[in-house]
Parts: sequence; C-alpha cells; structure tokens
Amino acid sequence: MHSALQPAAQPCFILAPGLTSNRNGLTRASCAHELRRAPCVWLARRRFPRQTAGPQHDASCLVPSFHRQELHRQRVVALSRRRTKRTAPLDIVAERSDSGNAQAVSGTQFQQEATPTGAPGKVYDRVVCKFGGSSVADAERMREVARLVRRQIELSRQYPVVVLSAMGSTTNDLIAAGDAALYEGIVDSTVVRNRAYAVCDALGLDREALVDPLLMQLDQLLMGVKFIRELSPRTRDYLVSFGERLSVRIFAAHLLYNEGLPARAFDAFDVGFRTDSNFQNAEILEETYDLIRSFFERVVSNQTLAVITGFIAKDNEGHVTTLGRGGSDLTATTLGAALGATEVQVWKDVDGIMTTDPRLVPNAIPVAEMSFEEAAELAYFGAKVLHPVAMQPALRFNIPVRVKNSYNPEAPGTVILRRESATMDRPVTALSVKRGVQLVDIVSTRMVGAYGFLARVFACFATHQLSVDVIATSEVSLSLTLDANACDMTRQQRIIKELQQIAQVSFSSGRAIISIISNVRRSSEILARAMKVLHEQNIEVQMISQGASKFNISLVVHNDEAITAVRALHDEFFHCSPSASNGTSTSATAAAAAAAAANADGVRVAGAA
Ligand code: ADP
Ligand code: ASP
Ligand code: MG
Repeated sequence: MHSALQPAAQPCFILAPGLTSNRNGLTRASCAHELRRAPCVWLARRRFPRQTAGPQHDASCLVPSFHRQELHRQRVVALSRRRTKRTAPLDIVAERSDSGNAQAVSGTQFQQEATPTGAPGKVYDRVVCKFGGSSVADAERMREVARLVRRQIELSRQYPVVVLSAMGSTTNDLIAAGDAALYEGIVDSTVVRNRAYAVCDALGLDREALVDPLLMQLDQLLMGVKFIRELSPRTRDYLVSFGERLSVRIFAAHLLYNEGLPARAFDAFDVGFRTDSNFQNAEILEETYDLIRSFFERVVSNQTLAVITGFIAKDNEGHVTTLGRGGSDLTATTLGAALGATEVQVWKDVDGIMTTDPRLVPNAIPVAEMSFEEAAELAYFGAKVLHPVAMQPALRFNIPVRVKNSYNPEAPGTVILRRESATMDRPVTALSVKRGVQLVDIVSTRMVGAYGFLARVFACFATHQLSVDVIATSEVSLSLTLDANACDMTRQQRIIKELQQIAQVSFSSGRAIISIISNVRRSSEILARAMKVLHEQNIEVQMISQGASKFNISLVVHNDEAITAVRALHDEFFHCSPSASNGTSTSATAAAAAAAAANADGVRVAGAA
C-alpha cells in the first residue's frame, strides 16, 4: 500500500538550477527555508517518454550541495526535470520517501512559468472525457477507465481533462443515508464507506489518507441531520457532493500511483464552477467560463492530468450546489466550452444514444450522428441518457460531443454536432417517452377573439413556478402538459380558482409524452405513419404538438399505453421495412388514419384554429 499522499494537497518543495519558482510561487531562496519545514519533499528526475526514470537519469547532482544535504536530512531521494520549451511547464517524475522506502510517484507539481495561453475559449486543444457512475462503479471499472484515459493520451498526445461522476449508486446511497438520519435518526454511512474502502483496497491505495477525511465529514453531517432534524435542499446538495469528491480522489490517486500519470484531483467549485442558489438543480453562472479558463491558466499546466468532480459547484455565498441528477454531463460540456476543447466525450454503459430507451425497447439501435438540438430535445423529453441542459454549452461554443460505451470502447458511439454538420436526411432520429405528466385543459369562457387570454393563463402558471412542456391551442381552448408531481391538488384548486373568471380548467394525471425526434419538414409523412401505427394498437392520442423547434413532434397518450406506443412506433420507424428507414413511404391508408385520429374526439392538435 502506498504511503499517505494526496495528489492535489501534498505540500512539496523542490529546487534545481534554472527552476526559479514552483507552483506556489516560491523562489529558490524561500524553497531552502521551506524545505526545512516540509513534511516530505518530492524531487524531480528527468523523464523520458515511456520510460521510468532510472538511476542514470538521477539529476541530484544538479542540486547545489547545500540543498542536497538539506534534502537528505529531509529523507528526500532524487531529483530531475524535463525542460520542454522555455515557457512550458516542467514535467516531473519524482521519488518520495517519508518512511525510508522510496516510492516512485509522478505528477506535475511545479511550473516554471505560466502555462501558455490562447484566446478565450481556446486555451487548450484538449479532449474532455466524462465517465458516468457505471463507468467507475468499482476498482475493475476504474482500471478500465484508466486504460481508456491512456488510450486517449496516445491518440491526442495530450492529457485529457477527466470528469467523474460518483461511483455506481453512491449518489442514491448518500440520499438514502440522509433520509435515514432525518426520518429514523440513524447515522449510517456504511454503504458509501464500504464501497470507497473496497475500491481503495483493490487498487492498493491508502484509504485512510484518501477518503477517511471526507467520510468523517460525512458522518458529522449525518449526525447534524439527525439532531437538527432538518435536511434542506442546500444540505442535500452538500450531502451528495461527497460522492463525486470521493471518486475523483480515488481515481486521481490510481492514475498517479499505479499508472504513473501526473493526475491531480480537483473539486469543480475550486476550478470555477459557480451557480445560482437553486439548490438541487442549480444553473451555471456566466462567470464560470472565465473562472475555469483562468484556473487552467494558473494551476493546470499542459503536463497535468486534471480529474474534476462532475455535478457539483458552489453559489456566490460559498454553499455547495448541484446541477441536477445526471449533472456531470453538464460539467463536462461546460468545461469543454470554456476551454475550447476539441471534443467532449461522455462515456456511459450504452453504445451511444440509442433510437429509444434500450430498457423499454431492447432492439433499439445506436444513432451514429445527431444534432445538438435533437439531443437536447431527446434529453429534455425524458431520455435519461443525457442531462437536459448539457447540450447548451456545447451548442453555444460548437464543441462536438461523443457518447461512448466504456464497456464496449470499440463501438463508434454517437457524435453530436452542429445541425449543418449532422446527417439530416432521415425522417426520425429517435423516440423518447416522459411518463407521469399532467395534462391541463383550459377552455376559455370569454367570447371568441377576446385578447389577453393566453397571457393571463401563462402569467398564472408563471406565478406558480410551473414549467409547461407541450402546448396545443385553438381559438378558445388550450391544452398543455406539466411535469409529474408539479401540481398537487391544493395548487390545482388555486389555479382553477385564479382562472375561473376567464376559463374552465381541468387537470388529468397519468399521461405520457412521446417525443418523435424528427425532421419536422417531413411531418405529414411522420404523423401519417405514427397515427396509422397507434390506430392499429387502439391507442388514443390525446394531444399532438409540433413545436417551433422543428425537431420534435410530441404525442400525449395514457401512461399505461406509453410503452406499447413507443415499441410500435420504434418498429415502424426503425425496423419495419426498408422504406421505413429511409422514410420514403407514405401510404394513403396511413394518411387517412392520421386524419381520422387527428379529428377524433378529444384530440388536441397544436395550431388548429
Ligand atoms: P451515466 O450515469 O453513466 O452518465 P446514465 O445511466 O445517466 O449514464 O445514462 C445511461 C443510461 O440511459 C443507459 O444505461 C440507458 O439505460 C438509459 N437510456 C435512456 N434512454 C436512452 C437512449 N435513448 N439511449 C441510450 N441510453 C438511454
Ligand atoms: N452522481 C450524480 C447523479 O447520480 C451526477 C451524475 O452522475 O452525473 O445524478
Ligand atoms: Mg447519470
């Protein structure tokens, strides 16, 4: 087992001719002073590509004798350095001994001068690699992810920026531990602790140094929850932050000690992630982009392999916030956008974005290429594969996003690009389903043509902070959908009362939105085929909306029928016949069925007057 050492936090001191300052800004003179106080010292040795520093490269002779003596007293072993270009940071491979046994470690601990910078948004041409919870669920998965990181280094000849989620189900386990403390007065972090310990042990890492400090804080927090009997959204965010903070420390240590890569763990809030104070679903503030760039310029040299927590950030008061479940995807695209990365890779446990949720439709197939807008619609309308907001930074700064399978790295995955770059000749790209939504029917009691009706309705929903997903309107009526659980009975009654002067309002629960992510320019064909299939399945479509996005046709059906509907639609658009996949057939029967269904009683058709 390695001795206690945290890659990011270890105080270490170095001196060598030509090395004017280390990353803490120490001069050689002050280094000498600091050396006496240092608990341990790392000494750099010359590093050659793919070669461990050997005695022949030991450059301790470069160290002036005074310092060498000091170093030996401090149980320091050897020093060398690689000087690249004058302005480039030093790449350090060091040996360290604080127990008499020298151990090889590596890491960039020093920087000769500031890392070269580029124009904003183009600081480094790096790849951002994000690994989700299932990719780092245990020690074996971490080893595999380390192999993938190595492969990326070989491919791009640069260190990627790595973003990690919490290991496996750690986030859920933390939530469960918080609820147990709150509701049952039980303080028990065993599940989280055992997983972290098991991974450390299997990887030969020092668990006391690496994870115990965090686990101790976690126990203190749970104890506080137990006694105060309070678990606010703010405290919940702090609670779940332990998941990502544990995983980056373990993985960076694995890269550093076992793989000899210069990895350092960082918490995203230290890197610059700032959000508003909307705990549990916080929004990233604009200043984040500059803060990230500046942090990389100051702290993360090109010779550093940064391993950064996904999902978490801080608000301007310094409280930990989270970006919503699955938020590590958003961390990765934000980093990619801020740094002008070549691409953002999002590694999951599926072969890319599939034509629909593979848990619902096992014969779903990967989509090779899609646009940012399509991916965003898919995520927003229920596909759990990507965080709903993750595409925004990528779209804004045009950073391609590649979704890959860490369990099957050879699979090509899905590449998400600007719309003009994506192949758009197919009618349907993918299907998603969002279950448990509420359907609200609002019928105006005013005369036809009275103005201000829609404005009053939306003002009412805005006051109640209810977000509307899908809308269909006619001259006198409006149908819309709300998220599951968004509107409880009390709130429903208040809305009905508030709008009673202008409309009759009725709420229906247990509905599902099926989104056909498609080329809306071919909407007649798509609707015709969709309606035919649903008609054959006796599925009643309660609302149709072809929104302004041009990428999405949404159908509202009963929850109970949603899976049958998705399977039937999937067969139609992806497996049925050769013509289905190139989308050239639109039969008269299908068109007739579509018309019949659209005109059927109770169907709301967007835009119908
Ligand atoms: P991670 O946490 O590793 O980032 P997630 O578990 O959040 O990944 O997302 C991957 C999961 O999303 C898959 O295992 C799959 O079950 C689910 N999923 C839902 N819809 C889709 C889809 N259209 N394509 C791919 N996966 C999907
Ligand atoms: N760990 C967080 C979650 O489970 C964030 C993420 O995995 O992206 O939601
Ligand atoms: Mg996830």
